Amino acid sequence: MILIVDDQENNIYALKKLLENWDFEVDKAFSGEEALSKVLKNNYALIILDVQMPGMDGFEVAEALCGYSKTKDIPIIFLSAVNTHKRFIKRGYESGGIDYVTKPVDQDILMLKVKTFYRLYEQTKALNETKQALINEIDERKKVQQQLKDKVEFLNATLESLPQLAFTLDHFGNLDFVNEHWLMYADKLHFPTPHPDDFDLVFLFDLLKESENPLEREVRLKKLDGKDYRYHLLRVIPFKIGHNTLRWVGTFTDIHEQKLAEIKKDEFLSIASHELKTPLTSIKAYVQLLERTIESQECCPAEGYIRKVNCQVEKLNVLIADLLDISKIENGKLQIRPSLFNLEKLIDEVVETTKHSFDHRDLTIIKNGEIIGDVWADEMRIEQVLINYLSNAVKYNPSNNTIRIFTEKFDNEIKVNITDYGLGIPDSKKPFLFNKFYRVEETSMRFQGLGIGLYICSEIINKHNGTVGVESEEGQGSTFYFTLPTN
Ligand code: ADP
Repeated sequence: MILIVDDQENNIYALKKLLENWDFEVDKAFSGEEALSKVLKNNYALIILDVQMPGMDGFEVAEALCGYSKTKDIPIIFLSAVNTHKRFIKRGYESGGIDYVTKPVDQDILMLKVKTFYRLYEQTKALNETKQALINEIDERKKVQQQLKDKVEFLNATLESLPQLAFTLDHFGNLDFVNEHWLMYADKLHFPTPHPDDFDLVFLFDLLKESENPLEREVRLKKLDGKDYRYHLLRVIPFKIGHNTLRWVGTFTDIHEQKLAEIKKDEFLSIASHELKTPLTSIKAYVQLLERTIESQECCPAEGYIRKVNCQVEKLNVLIADLLDISKIENGKLQIRPSLFNLEKLIDEVVETTKHSFDHRDLTIIKNGEIIGDVWADEMRIEQVLINYLSNAVKYNPSNNTIRIFTEKFDNEIKVNITDYGLGIPDSKKPFLFNKFYRVEETSMRFQGLGIGLYICSEIINKHNGTVGVESEEGQGSTFYFTLPTN
């Protein structure tokens, strides 16, 4: 929009008509004061200013406009019929005008000037806007860069203050940060050298790339100037931005003391179980001898006592065997000795053993399903799993004596299901049943146990590359199953 400032209405009228003919939007002010108040409210691309006006003259108006940041860049053309002397023209330019036109005005020349200044103003304005947008963007980028820098510094300071060996890996698996602690074990560019029997850190990045999941490994590391290896726990976590894994952050935590204590505990458990087992085995043998001796005499109360002792000895035996198994599992020494055996026969034997162990209960154990025949597995260990499932089915089923064993045959595996109609298991507890030392709190006070039977079963079946699981409804009963691959 163009503002015409003139105290003579005729002048304004003529100029307005001329400009409107050229499609310019026009506004008018009849005094310098009115012009000043209008420019603060509206946006003008050009001001055509009469020099001689009562009150503020054109020069004063132009000087005032130069003082406001909003108006200082608006081009001003002075228009004067009276003050045509060079002195006035000079003053006009000095007060901020970009042109000084004297009357009579050549309309064509005036219009050319108006159009040029108008376009120039529009272009300058657009340029200024672009410049401002660029400045804003640069400021924003600087701010973000600073924030990023602060974050990286914070992360580095955090990693630096950790008592662990800490590092970060870039997208290509190169070390791009290590803390001071690290330098006791390796230089800035390499991983510490692990014990030759442990996980080789050369393959670490391959593993990380494969899964994009956090990773944990135990490795023994040696200080650069040391002789002995110490156990460390390596933990690596991926840093994700969107779906792209950008880098990884990791730590090696010294767990040497805990590890030694754990090894000692396992050794103790193993020795204690062995020590307990030896006298127990001979007690068991003598009790059986006694039982046989007494069996020949009729109505002897000692026979009942001996049977009870025998039963307790058997429980102790199972307990110790389980503890021994736990320490074997912990040490990775649980061995599977497979052979070909008949599963139906084994199940029949286990059913008999279970009935015998719970002879105070009038158990009905029904076996049906497909005939499996021979399987290739560790017979003693599978027997152990069957006994465990069946004894649990009896134990956690105090008011129902029926148990079903159902066998199934698939293309690549067989499945054995043992169903009871007892207490069942709450949904929230099912995922933990096969964990070490886990017992369902709701029933743990009523029934004796250590919570290791199912854990051992799952380890045995895992070693056979099979699976374990449970389906259960609270109050209705449970079906525990295991599968074994047939190929
Ligand atoms: P334990 O029986 O010695 O506690 P297990 O490892 O054999 O240890 O079983 C773990 C837990 O699983 C048990 O404490 C019990 O809460 C639950 N559980 C196992 N079998 C059954 C079952 N057939 N019915 C209901 N709960 C069961």
